[in-house]
Amino acid sequence: MRLKLHRGPGRGEYNPTTVEFLSDDGCRIFIDLGSGGAPFSVPGLTEPDSGPKGSALFLSHLHNDHSGRLEDCLEGIDVYAGSVTAKLMRIIEGKLSGVPSAACGRRGPGAFPETGPGEGRGPAGDRRRAERLAAIGRIKTFDRSRYTYAFGGLTVTRFLTDHSCLDTYMFLVKGDGAACLVTGDFRDHGLRWPLALNRLKAYAPGVTHAVCMPVYAEGAGRGEGERAGSRSFYPESDVRGMAERFLKTRRHVFVVCSSTDLDRIHAFMEANAAQEGGGRLFLADSYQARILKAADGFKDSEGKPFGFRGRLEVIGPGKEADYARWDKAGFLMLARGTAQCFKTHMTRYLGGPGADPSGPGGAVIYSRWRGYLDPGRRNSHEDRELLKDWLRSWPAREFSRAGDVTDMPGGPEAGAASPESAVTVIHTGGHASPEALKRLADEIFPDAAIIPIEHDSADGIMKLFPEKGKVIPLEPGRYLELERRAAAAGGRASDA
Ligand SMILES: [Zn+2]
Repeated sequence: MRLKLHRGPGRGEYNPTTVEFLSDDGCRIFIDLGSGGAPFSVPGLTEPDSGPKGSALFLSHLHNDHSGRLEDCLEGIDVYAGSVTAKLMRIIEGKLSGVPSAACGRRGPGAFPETGPGEGRGPAGDRRRAERLAAIGRIKTFDRSRYTYAFGGLTVTRFLTDHSCLDTYMFLVKGDGAACLVTGDFRDHGLRWPLALNRLKAYAPGVTHAVCMPVYAEGAGRGEGERAGSRSFYPESDVRGMAERFLKTRRHVFVVCSSTDLDRIHAFMEANAAQEGGGRLFLADSYQARILKAADGFKDSEGKPFGFRGRLEVIGPGKEADYARWDKAGFLMLARGTAQCFKTHMTRYLGGPGADPSGPGGAVIYSRWRGYLDPGRRNSHEDRELLKDWLRSWPAREFSRAGDVTDMPGGPEAGAASPESAVTVIHTGGHASPEALKRLADEIFPDAAIIPIEHDSADGIMKLFPEKGKVIPLEPGRYLELERRAAAAGGRASDA
């Protein structure tokens, strides 16, 4: 079995990589076809080449750098993905099709998880979106009871894992005596990890190679901007506790987080419902509501049905805001960048000129990577500009003042948020820490050779695994022959 990495051009911090496997009997499969903002070609997948015809493309998850170029996949290659992933892709694409270009102009990593391909306006953009919707329609969603898919000399086994995106998978590809785990994006501090690890332990002994995600400090950081103390990696379960404590101090709370980070949204919803007296409202617009509905039927980390039904109240265009009721009941509102209505509500509850002076004060929880708010970060100031705009009316303050964003004091352990701050960050990273990758390797593939998915940032992984021959940095575009016994021999790169 041979392995090849295809690396696409990146925008900012997101560089898509497609992983290709080719068996001795000429069976060929691919994992992920993402977008970094510009087209890239994957011979055999996006255009015919002289090699054998591809059998299948597996998408690990929804994020744009893993699935954003799906429409470029050649017809005749079967596409597999999770069912929630397929539903969410359809919702996101439908939204982009109906949005005037000025409104979806907010792009870049700050808007990353929900923007879809995003590039191209006018007829060309419309055509691409139509192609994408057609491609999404061709996805064969994972069958609940089927974990392994066979294609000639190759088998692909999927493992539900934990990431800042529901319905994310690792893949174990076996063929010709080799077994290669493609970790994709994952983290071991999320709610779903214990179950994921159990399944990996059962299915994955004998892994000879592992294609591993890059290690970096947090989320999109890729090594820059990580702050001392590394609170980026506290458990996802702590987010709920922090949210509960915060909500005790404020009754009207806007949450800015990724629309598709459904475990996170679920935690906020539960924290809101747990507030004394009950009855606090849980508000979102219709787009967010459709996304939440798409998760219905998924299981939570304990295997119980996971959903948002019955709790959510849809707000937005065409619906009068019931301020009297909102004032009285209190609320948690999922706020998104492109909708004007959120700014109107924030102005009222955050004490700007249009606010009701007798009304209770509100607050904003920022539940994404804090680096998105750092001034001067390349390509990463979108959220900052958004909050600045939303909070323009914050009394006697200019959002650029450092004091207007604080972390939840003391992180997971300590008390209430500072009432002085406009924005409080409650967030933990969506990716694994370097230590987590090391732990996974030790438990699941102790003897495997490790292939960094990003050749140009392999140093971090080499530091984690200093044993000679353990890490094989593989240049994109070259085949690596995966030998049966990887630990000793590693593999041989070739251009064939
Ligand atoms: Zn991701």
